[in-house]
Amino acid sequence: MVCVGHVSPDADCLGAALALSRAWSIAQKKDAFVWVTEQTIPARLRFMLEIADVPRADTGILKAADRLAVVDTSQPSRIDLPKTISIEPDGHHRILNIDHHFTNTCFGNIDWIVEDASSTCELIYELLCGLSIEIDPATAALLYSGIYTDTGGFSLPNTTANALNIAAELTQLGVSPSDIAERVDRSVGKPQFELLKSIYQNTHTLADGSIAYSTISYDDLLKSGCAPSDIDDQVNVPRSMAGVAIAALFTEVEPGRVRINLRGESSTEVAGLAQQFGGGGHRQAAGVIMSGTLANAVDRVISAAVKMLEGQSQDAVTRESAKDVCESTGP
Ligand code: 5GP
Ligand code: MN
Repeated sequence: MVCVGHVSPDADCLGAALALSRAWSIAQKKDAFVWVTEQTIPARLRFMLEIADVPRADTGILKAADRLAVVDTSQPSRIDLPKTISIEPDGHHRILNIDHHFTNTCFGNIDWIVEDASSTCELIYELLCGLSIEIDPATAALLYSGIYTDTGGFSLPNTTANALNIAAELTQLGVSPSDIAERVDRSVGKPQFELLKSIYQNTHTLADGSIAYSTISYDDLLKSGCAPSDIDDQVNVPRSMAGVAIAALFTEVEPGRVRINLRGESSTEVAGLAQQFGGGGHRQAAGVIMSGTLANAVDRVISAAVKMLEGQSQDAVTRESAKDVCESTGP
């Protein structure tokens, strides 16, 4: 078996793939490999590879594997596979698809999609418990890292009682929450810190502060000393302002290619906004990759965001006046 996550890996997909591979290898006394594209892993998450200490698949192993566990990935085109390997519905790979994206296209031979799960790591925890597979301290740390980051450090609406209970169980199994938080949140390197400075500097607001976005040009990225893989949760900078309903970070990851991170605050959803431009994700955390210039991407996405919020406030006004009419003409 080979475990694989999505392109531009985050801690949830890495944690899920690495934890499943580690726990399975130990339990079955047989290697379960992981496929990751090393250069796309953010610097702050590299520690996860070290603690997992699992065998890495090469393309030969990947091609020959009869089982592929695909985690945290909503559609086949987002699977982190080399271009030379494709998965076909009737191909020789049997695909186990484990995910918590509501947009998952159910591309597996077995699909286990739980939209209410905080993270894919939560599902892997439940799978391992269900199979009575031991969760050792390293596996626990990997799972905790995914739950911790996908819930925004237990601060986002997906911070359910179940997520907190599992985090507590994992802590009992040997995780140090302060150690994980230190590695993930309090270990910003100098280049990543320089990048954050540009992101703060370039943050703009509009629509009465309900939209906040920032931009990173390819030049900014290179000047800071960062790589495209270092973009992960910096959209939290524009998102952190009071009154923001939609936050966006536009990064020119290479000339002519722009990655956009979108986040919705309170009850604002951004998955539809991402889908308008060919992207996707969760209701309140989504992304897009667009071709063209940074300015063009900002123009198109921000115009659509403004229109979306205008539509929502118009709907709210209509609902409010309908309520007024009902109340004034009511019994
Ligand atoms: P992030 O902004 O952290 O890259 O992504 C937020 C969420 O949206 C994640 O669940 C991620 O998997 C998903 N996502 C990001 N970019 C894309 C994209 O281009 N297409 C789809 N379908 N999902 C995306
Ligand atoms: Mn996830």
